[in-house]
Amino acid sequence: MAILKVARLGHPVLRQVAPPVRSETIREAETQRLIDDMIETMREYEGVGIAAPQVHVSKQIAVIEATDNRRYPDAPDIPLTVLINLEVTPIAPELEDDWEGCLSLIDFRGQTPRYQQVRAKALDRDGRPFEFVATGFHARVLQHERDHLLGKLFIDRMKSLETLSYLAEFSRHWKH
Ligand SMILES: [Zn+2]
Repeated sequence: MAILKVARLGHPVLRQVAPPVRSETIREAETQRLIDDMIETMREYEGVGIAAPQVHVSKQIAVIEATDNRRYPDAPDIPLTVLINLEVTPIAPELEDDWEGCLSLIDFRGQTPRYQQVRAKALDRDGRPFEFVATGFHARVLQHERDHLLGKLFIDRMKSLETLSYLAEFSRHWKH
């Protein structure tokens, strides 16, 4: 396994719409290695998710996980989940603002509106389809990762950039 270089804001790969993965290629060694490396990279940089475009690969693959995360100490646990060709559909129309960060905007946090409850559909790393309903922070992470596959970043979803804060200022002035 390898820790991959993370693309940061300004790299064009973050703004591309990633094509879906063809299901017959999911079990190939190259895809499996990419998934393993994404998991390793997410854990190394203490993300709660990472999408393939963030490691310079324009493909619809994301991984998420949260357990005792130092960057998000209040986050509820999310089991390690590999999401290929992820689709996210809101279940209810209400949006809720909360703080969000991103390994591609490593020093920033901003209040970002997201749907509170969503249905996620994807293929697992063996190519099997699965779906589940997620709420709250889990739903937020899924919408964030789905956005990466569409070339969108959390700053695009903020209603205004007034709360966009450097992490140090966020900790000093906003953290509750
Ligand atoms: Zn991100």
